[in-house]
Amino acid sequence: METSHDAYPQNNLTWRILHKAQKNSYAVGAFNCYNDDGVLAVIRAAEAKKSPAIIQLFPWTLHFQGPDFVRYVVARAHAASVPIAVHLDHCIDDSDVETALSLPLDSIMVDASGLEPETNIAYCSGIARRAAKLGITVEAEMGRIEGGEDGLKTMELEGLLTDPHTAQEFVRRTGVHFLAPSFGNVHGPYPPGGAEKFWQLDRLQAIGKAVGNDIPLVLHGTHPVADELFHEAMARGIVKINLNRNVRDEYTAFVGENWSKDELTQLKEKAVKVYAKSIERAMDMLRSSGKAA
Ligand SMILES: [Zn+2]
Repeated sequence: METSHDAYPQNNLTWRILHKAQKNSYAVGAFNCYNDDGVLAVIRAAEAKKSPAIIQLFPWTLHFQGPDFVRYVVARAHAASVPIAVHLDHCIDDSDVETALSLPLDSIMVDASGLEPETNIAYCSGIARRAAKLGITVEAEMGRIEGGEDGLKTMELEGLLTDPHTAQEFVRRTGVHFLAPSFGNVHGPYPPGGAEKFWQLDRLQAIGKAVGNDIPLVLHGTHPVADELFHEAMARGIVKINLNRNVRDEYTAFVGENWSKDELTQLKEKAVKVYAKSIERAMDMLRSSGKAA
């Protein structure tokens, strides 16, 4: 693993992974994991493909498996032969943010998208200042992405699109490092018509231009998205791509079919292989394969 003598945020692992990707025109998968199978699958896929990666956990993991599981994930990820950061996705509750800031995470997403825009800015900037002292980088959501996914609180509120004209101001005032824009993307699954129908690529492009290269954009709502559309998003500033069910469905199906056939040890070993294959395909698609070589 490369070492860095840079100061924060340049010495932060998520920051380094995403800025290197941005400079070299590829994207990095941020894989939502719910259990140790997912964690091992990301690490094995990243090492096999010599790709950087980000393991994402939801606050659900803080509650269900507990903070010590997060420490285990960070220890495993950082011991890999390629750069793998650990990120806490969608911190909505204050208490989750507090727990997150007490853990050795590389980065967290503060989701204050349910608040009024000005309150969102004030809240995010307060957390960004505290996170900076701990060496943790911060992703924030500007506007509000609709929908929900497993382990994520469903908002009763309607989506709110990111205004490209105020995106730069949002980033400057909050001091966050990565921005999750709302440009018609939906936390899956997409309604009929799919991402093709709902995404406003012009808006995404304008947001990317407004915030510039200092702020890698993060894509939420990828279930499902066609490969070509991922590439369209990457051409417009998306560097971190959150992947959940797209790389997990084959694993889930395999476990479902083989649950009663194998001993648990064999089932897990085979299932992690299936999971890792799905992740490896995503790494090829995002063009991150070989980039950690
Ligand atoms: Zn999300």
